[in-house]
Amino acid sequence: MKAPMRVLVCAPAQAAAMVEGTTFDRACAQCAARVMVAPSGRASLARNPETIIYCYDCAMAAMEKYGNATIELAGTAAEIASEVRSAQPNTWRKRN
Ligand SMILES: [Zn+2]
Repeated sequence: MKAPMRVLVCAPAQAAAMVEGTTFDRACAQCAARVMVAPSGRASLARNPETIIYCYDCAMAAMEKYGNATIELAGTAAEIASEVRSAQPNTWRKRN
């Protein structure tokens, strides 16, 4: 039996806010849009190398299509809360 697909849902690289330590070198596997990956997401990718990266829009479309997604956080609730508290304006948007 095939293992269920694991998807990391990422904010678009142009999102208004980012958390400390976010990187911008990955893209959505579906639409190739550049996305941001927070430290919790990178740790999750390291633990689960088979993970596929989707942007919000493609993840929502996939969930509507397949309907049976199980959603879990990329890290512990404490890790995610800490990242959310560290949110700051996205400086990547202003680069050239
Ligand atoms: Zn996408």
